[in-house]
Amino acid sequence: MGGSRYSIGDGMPVYSEEDCEGALFMAKWPNGYKCPRCLHPHHYNVSSRGRRLFECMSCRHQTSLTAGTVLEGTRTPLFKWFQAMYLMQIGISATLLSELIQVTYKTAWLMNHKLRYAIEQWDRELPLQGQLQVLGEFYAYEYSRRFSSMGAEAEHRAHPVIVGASVVESSGTMTRLKIKRMESAAGSPNDSCELERFLQNHAILAGDESHEIKVFDRRNRRERSALHAIWNEAVRWLARTFGGIGPKHLQAYLDEFCFRRMFRSDTMIELIGLCGMTNTIIYRDLVGKRGGIQPIKWGRKHAKSRQKIAS
Ligand SMILES: [Zn+2]
Repeated sequence: MGGSRYSIGDGMPVYSEEDCEGALFMAKWPNGYKCPRCLHPHHYNVSSRGRRLFECMSCRHQTSLTAGTVLEGTRTPLFKWFQAMYLMQIGISATLLSELIQVTYKTAWLMNHKLRYAIEQWDRELPLQGQLQVLGEFYAYEYSRRFSSMGAEAEHRAHPVIVGASVVESSGTMTRLKIKRMESAAGSPNDSCELERFLQNHAILAGDESHEIKVFDRRNRRERSALHAIWNEAVRWLARTFGGIGPKHLQAYLDEFCFRRMFRSDTMIELIGLCGMTNTIIYRDLVGKRGGIQPIKWGRKHAKSRQKIAS
């Protein structure tokens, strides 16, 4: 179980830029072009500095294919983005991605994280519901050491997480899956308050359905559930691919894992769809510790005065 059908050795698919444009167009405008300003459904094709633009026949507003998508502002060819999405079906490191698609490490890192950001937005929209199963666990250094040949860094201290799934009781099929790290590293995954918080943030509980939540205990070795297996799979992937992950970005990787686990062979198609619908995030916000502080926006007016200062 969990073995990937894809192997990097199989070689990477070659996509034409036109095919990628077509796929992104469909993802962004599934019902056909629509002007982002006036919602008019018809456009002229124009090009500016080699870039293809869509000009609204009604209000003349120009927009690009990537505007309003995760790929907005990118200077990387679309086909490389699609190759990155292809590779996210396995889930690889930025180092390997940069080698395989021939971009710098920083670009590869940013691409992977932008894709994860789209997944994170998707995850927020889909809380768990119905019959639930939950399991409290620890993401710990020992796991990394056990599974990784790379030798994990000492920064991987145990961090409590909760694995939760919506399950069709009769068949045991999982319809939704989430693994969330707890905010406090000092928390215990078996703490009922933590469990309650997890449910509040990530599940819809209609009425009194507390009886429909099955809570598994990580320490109970006789009661191995599908959630235990999924958790082990996630930990192995983090260890083998990245040599373990520190707490700062752990959640993004866990979301990526759950996304792939849910969609399996449809992962890439779903990912393209998400990219077309999700606004991008910039590097500074991805790495930023300065949460809450608005960076100064240099508009045209400011740019002028800045030029003056410079000259
Ligand atoms: Zn318009």
